[in-house]
This record gives sequence, C-alpha cells and structure tokens, in this order.
Amino acid sequence: MAAKLIKGTEIREQILEEITAEVAEIKEKHGVVPGLVTILVGENPASISYVTLKIKTAHRVGFNEIQDSQSEDLSEEALLGLIDKYNNDDAINGILVQLPLPKHIDDKKVLNAIDPDKDVDGFHPVNVGRLMIGGDEVKFPPCTPAGIQEMIVRAGVETSGAEVVVVGRSNIVGKPIANMMLQKGPGANSTVTIVHTRTQDLAAHCKRADILIVAAGVPGLVKPEWIKPGSCVIDVGVNRVGEKISEKTGKKIAILSGDVDFDAAKEIAGYITPVPGGVGPMTITMLMKNTLKSLKFKLGIA
Ligand code: NAD
Repeated sequence: MAAKLIKGTEIREQILEEITAEVAEIKEKHGVVPGLVTILVGENPASISYVTLKIKTAHRVGFNEIQDSQSEDLSEEALLGLIDKYNNDDAINGILVQLPLPKHIDDKKVLNAIDPDKDVDGFHPVNVGRLMIGGDEVKFPPCTPAGIQEMIVRAGVETSGAEVVVVGRSNIVGKPIANMMLQKGPGANSTVTIVHTRTQDLAAHCKRADILIVAAGVPGLVKPEWIKPGSCVIDVGVNRVGEKISEKTGKKIAILSGDVDFDAAKEIAGYITPVPGGVGPMTITMLMKNTLKSLKFKLGIA
C-alpha cells in the first residue's frame, strides 16, 4: 500500500493562516504586531533568495519586517553594534542574522550577542539549554526540528512510546530533533536513538524505527529494505543531484533529492515526506511561529 504523503506545502498554509489570524487578534487587543529584523551582510545570491522568502512570508502574516542589508566590508564591531541596537529596540521581537557571514566576522560571537529572548532561530546557547531542559523552559525550538515535530503531530502519527531513529547528529537538525522527541509531553515521549557516520550497523537501527528521521545530506542513503512497514519516514535531506529546465520559467533549475529512496520507500512506509515539498517549507513557517511567540512572551499571553 502506498504511504500517506505528509506535505509541508499544505501544512505551511494551515500554520501561516493560523499565525495571520492570531496576529490580527493581537493587533486588535494590544495594538502591536510582531517585529522581525533580518540582517544580511554582503550579496551571497543564495542568502538573498532565502532572505527574500523570509520577508515575503513575514509580510504575508502581518508582521512588521525590517530588512537591514549591509555591505560585505561591514566590520565585526559594527555588526555587534547593530545587534545591540536591535536587542534594545522594543518594537523588535526577533533578530535574524543570515549566514554565512563574510570570513572576517566570527559567526559564533555574533550569534551569541543576540538577546536569547529575541533569538527566534533558537541557536543561542541559552535556547539550546532551554530546549534540553524541556517543558515550560523552551522558548524558541530551532525551526527545522520544530517543523519536523509539527509535521509528525499534524499527520496524526503516535509518538508516545514510539521508537524514533534519527540519522545525523548536527546541531541544526539531528541533535535538537532527537532531544525534542524524547521530552515528556505531547508530540514526544519517544524512545530515541541517534545514528551517525561512526554507527556500526545503520540498517539494523533504521529497521526498528517507528519514526525514521533522516538528516544526513547523502542522496539514497536509506535503502527501502531498511524501512519498517507502516512506519513514518521524515526525509530532511536536500541534495542537488542534477539540473533540468523548468517548465514554468524555461530556466535551468536544480533537481533535488532527499536521503531516502523515495519511490521505493513510499510503497513500504505508512507516512512519508517528499523532497522537495516536505520538510523544506516548514523552516520559515516555524520562524514566523517563533517570532509571534516572542511577542506573546513579552505581552505575557504565551
Ligand atoms: P550536517 O552535514 O551538518 O550533518 C549531517 C549528519 O549526518 C552528520 O552528523 C553525519 O554524522 C551524518 N551522516 C552523514 N553521512 C552519513 C552516513 N553515511 N551514515 C550515517 N550518518 C551520516 O547536515 P545538516 O545541516 O544536519 O543537514 C542534513 C541534511 O538536511 C542536508 O541535506 C541539508 O541540506 C538538509 N537540511 C534541510 C533543511 C530544510 O529542509 N529546511 C534544513 C536543514 C538541513
């Protein structure tokens, strides 16, 4: 039987509508809307297109969006000064610094300078610690893992007592999603295993997963015979495996593939995310959710 597709594109629409309605309600009751600033240093084309999408989404849900574009030669000191300015700006609830930064700037120093209560990306050590403690301590779960958990919950997949296997141990995806799934609470309570490049028998671990979350960045890493029949497969991988001409624009575009052999896996799994159109659209969506949450914390209504 073919698996049920968990479409990030559809879930994104539902969540953005919910956020838009909540923003309108807060505006009416409290006279404010969430304020989000995106700091872009330099002109990296991938960063520009990512930032453009963030701005478009922020406008769509009714946020006050500030685009702060700086030249490539901005000094580290000047960037830290900007962050300090936004940390102290009452109208700003979320601060984003688009990565990568130019080589002369220390990423870590910059990200750690953001007020943890405005760190809507959830990468500040204080927010990583809050996530580890779990429960009410959590303010801003990092966006991609938060999107993954939201997809699992909205698809109606049981997580309590489920065997969750996470392939990959990065700070952005693998480690935080593993941590989130093992917490006490709804959408979690799972038994979690993390596997990585030094794991001895990847296949054996994957085979017992009720929920398999793959974030390795290796196309076709997970073979169909590693998938437990009826399980939920979340493919986070985004790999460029070629190029094609877009039917819509006539321009060259990348052919993307996940880390799972999708065509074969969809005949075995109970639920599966496609690539593209699966986890990808959830990241910016959850960024909007975190920014709204930041304002709600400030207003004492979270
Ligand atoms: P990363 O390179 O930082 O980490 C990859 C992890 O996978 C490492 O911990 C490594 O140990 C593990 N790994 C790699 N090859 C392996 C193998 N052969 N066997 C077992 N483990 C292996 O990558 P990341 O930032 O976590 O991203 C992972 C993938 O997810 C990438 O394809 C990335 O593009 C994608 N991604 C997508 C989104 C999104 O859709 N919004 C967001 C973040 C990352």
